[in-house]
Amino acid sequence: MYDPLTAPGPGQGCDHVASYWQATADTVNDDGILMGEAETDVAVIGAGYTGLSAAYHLAHVHRAGVIVLEANRPGWGCSGRNGGFVTPHISRLSSQEWLTRYGIDGARSLFAAGLDSLNTVRRLIHEADIDCEASPPGFLHVAHHANRLPALESRHQLLREIYDFETEMLSANELRQNWFCGAEAFGALRDPVSFGVHPLKLALGLLQLARQCGARVHSATPVTSWRCRDGRYTIDTPGGKIKARHVLIATNGYSSEKLFPQINGRILPVLSSIIVTRPMTAEEKNETGFVTSDLMVDTRIVRPYYRRLPDNRIMFGCRGALRESAHQDKPITAKLLRFLLTKFPALEDITVDFFWSGWVNVTYDYMPRIHRAAPEPGLVYAMGYNGTGVATSIQAGKWSAALLAGNGDDLPNPLNQELKKFPLPLLRRHGQRAMIAWYRLRDAL
Ligand SMILES: Cc1cc2nc3c(=O)[nH]c(=O)nc-3n(C[C@H](O)[C@H](O)[C@H](O)COP(=O)(O)OP(=O)(O)OC[C@H]3O[C@@H](n4cnc5c(N)ncnc54)[C@H](O)[C@@H]3O)c2cc1C
Repeated sequence: MYDPLTAPGPGQGCDHVASYWQATADTVNDDGILMGEAETDVAVIGAGYTGLSAAYHLAHVHRAGVIVLEANRPGWGCSGRNGGFVTPHISRLSSQEWLTRYGIDGARSLFAAGLDSLNTVRRLIHEADIDCEASPPGFLHVAHHANRLPALESRHQLLREIYDFETEMLSANELRQNWFCGAEAFGALRDPVSFGVHPLKLALGLLQLARQCGARVHSATPVTSWRCRDGRYTIDTPGGKIKARHVLIATNGYSSEKLFPQINGRILPVLSSIIVTRPMTAEEKNETGFVTSDLMVDTRIVRPYYRRLPDNRIMFGCRGALRESAHQDKPITAKLLRFLLTKFPALEDITVDFFWSGWVNVTYDYMPRIHRAAPEPGLVYAMGYNGTGVATSIQAGKWSAALLAGNGDDLPNPLNQELKKFPLPLLRRHGQRAMIAWYRLRDAL
């Protein structure tokens, strides 16, 4: 089965993965397979949020010619299959870890960049009138055990004192009365800005927007090789080639290290999986008191994420299998359902209608990068969102467009640096297995 660490590419012309999002989105046209030769200012490889946002900003703001090349269909990767959590979390690291690592000024500028990213998404949805079922804002970090409450309390203080960001602490009682009534809910920290979307509709909205502004987006067009001569790039695909002055690699968790040696040994694609249940009955909704549309994660290190969808289904996601395999689908579905039931025992009769997985891109220092890849004169990569990339990747597309247009000044450190190399990159999957065992142990303790 497909593993980005070893595969030459993600295939050609594959349909969107069968998911709740795919079942509830309409088809949107693109420019079809690239046939023959074409010339442009910027060739973008990958039509997820990063690539489509870059295409839009390049065409609309920087007036550049853009051609996007997508191996499968626009939004086929993570962008069409994520949990739809639009948050200002620019990386997996906590705001306390940023402070320790980057000092107060560095941490503040990253925090501001995260809020900017969220606002970019909000503005795009609003200005382009993208119908992606944006939910009212609200994100709960739920203490799954009483001993996690002090950590949430200190984060609440830190966000106020260092980042000037107001959150709310909710007691177990308040949660029960106004949000939901379940187990493993000892209180929560509520952020008032994050919101939910239908991720595939958001991706397809960005596709329409980019094309309206003059970008061409070719589906079923995998890049198979590329080279640079005298500062000009030639990019090969099965049906044709593109000549361009600049290239953006926007392939994130589906990147091939063989195709792009610039990222060799610097990324770790990791599976994340999601189930969506049948709609709750009126009785189940009543018993769980699950009235909120707020996004939720709990305080475990493995960070299960869940939300009620507009039609009263529950979406529940967490880390998936180590490798993609049809044999894993049933056990992982069962595991996620068991996990969901520990939180909502009243849903004991609920069934699962959808299950799917996708590859998130974990980096060695858990930070994303938007980087001009020396010694290439016109090559930029934008990737490494560590599973929190809806807002960040759309902002990364905007930043990449500015960088390619000769202005990368807005990019805070360390986002503009080269991706860090994993020590012993050939052993990354073994390292991942060890990390999972360690996380499980820490959560159990
Ligand atoms: C199950 C799951 C849940 C998630 N939930 C959330 C969430 O709730 N909130 C959040 O913030 N983040 C979430 N994420 C992460 C988020 O979805 C990603 O960070 C984001 O979508 C990355 O967008 P992208 O455009 O960079 O990459 P992608 O959307 O993955 O797009 C990359 C594209 O590149 C194409 N490609 C690869 N190689 C080639 C090639 N050689 N030629 C042409 N095309 C190529 C692929 O086909 C793919 O379509 C989740 C991810 C997963 C998998």
